[in-house]
Amino acid sequence: MKPADFTYHRPSTAEQAASLLAELSDAKVLAGGQSLLPIMNMRLASPEHLVDLTAIRGLRTFTEADDQIRYGATTTHMMLEEQLVPDRTNGLLPRAASGIGYRAIRNRGTLAGSLAHADSSAEWPTIMAAVDAAVHTLSVRGTRRIPVRDLLRGFFTTALDEDEFITGVEVTRFAPETRWGLYKMARKPGEFAESLAVALLRPDGAELWLGAARDVPIRLPNTEAVAESPELPDLLDAVGADTGSEGHQRQLHAVSVQRALNAAHHQEVTRV
Ligand SMILES: Cc1cc2nc3c(=O)[nH]c(=O)nc-3n(C[C@H](O)[C@H](O)[C@H](O)COP(=O)(O)OP(=O)(O)OC[C@H]3O[C@@H](n4cnc5c(N)ncnc54)[C@H](O)[C@@H]3O)c2cc1C
Repeated sequence: MKPADFTYHRPSTAEQAASLLAELSDAKVLAGGQSLLPIMNMRLASPEHLVDLTAIRGLRTFTEADDQIRYGATTTHMMLEEQLVPDRTNGLLPRAASGIGYRAIRNRGTLAGSLAHADSSAEWPTIMAAVDAAVHTLSVRGTRRIPVRDLLRGFFTTALDEDEFITGVEVTRFAPETRWGLYKMARKPGEFAESLAVALLRPDGAELWLGAARDVPIRLPNTEAVAESPELPDLLDAVGADTGSEGHQRQLHAVSVQRALNAAHHQEVTRV
C-alpha cells in the first residue's frame, strides 16, 4: 500500500518546525517514520503535511548538567543501544533499546517518536515513566516541561497540543545503589510486548512498573509490597489487584514482574 499524497517539509531549525506546525493545517511531525509511515501506508492516517525533524541537528545531540541528561528528540533507539549517547541508568536504557523491534527499526526509530506515539506495549513509555523522565516541548507559544507520567493520557493519546512537538527527553542519573530489572514478554524477538515489567530496587524499597497491561504504563503498589521475596502465588494476587487482569493475562504479567524482580535482585551494583 502507498500513502495518500502529502507535502513534505524539512526545516533545519526547531523554530522553523514550530512555525510550520502552527501555520499548516493537518500537519504531522515525522521522526523515524517507523510508526507513522506504516499507519499512512495502511491509510489509517492521511495528513496533508509532514514536518520532518531529522534535519534539525540540535535535536540529535544530548546535553548533561548536574544529575540530568537530556537526549535530543531524534536520538534513535540504536544510538541508545550502542551508547553513542551516554547512559546514566547503569545499563537500563541500552538494554531496553536493544529489545525494540529489529535493527532496521532501531536505526531509524526515535526516543521521542515512541513517546509521542504512546503505544502502551512499546518500551519507552513504560521505561521513561518508571525512571520519571520528562519531555521538553516547543510550539509557537513557547516551551514546556512535561513529566512522562503526565504526558501519556491513554492509547495513542498524549498531552501534546496539535502544533507542539518534543525537543528532548530528560532522564535523571540513577543513584549508585539503584538496581534494575527489565522483562519483556513477547511471542518472538522483534515483536511488541505482551507484558513489559520494570523493577527498580533502591535502599528504601522497590518500585514496579508494567506496560502492555492497560492504556498507559501503570505502577504496581500492591506488588511492590511483596517484592522482597517474589513468590508466584503472592505475585498473582498482587498483580491481579494492581492491574485488574485475570486468568492468562494475570499469569503473564505476574511472571514478567517476577523475572524483572529476580533480575534486579541479582544485579551487581556499579557506579554510573
Ligand atoms: C515491525 C515493527 C516492530 C516494532 N517493534 C517495536 C517494539 O518491539 N517496541 C517498541 O517500543 N517499538 C516498536 N516499534 C515502533 C518503533 O519503535 C517506532 O520507531 C516508534 O514507535 C516511533 O518512533 P519514530 O521515530 O519512528 O516516530 P514516527 O513514526 O516518525 O512518528 C510516530 C508518531 O509520533 C509523532 N512524533 C514523532 N516525533 C515526535 C516529536 N519529536 N514530537 C511530537 N510528536 C512526534 C508523529 O507525528 C507520529 O504521530 C516497531 C515498529 C515496527 C514497524
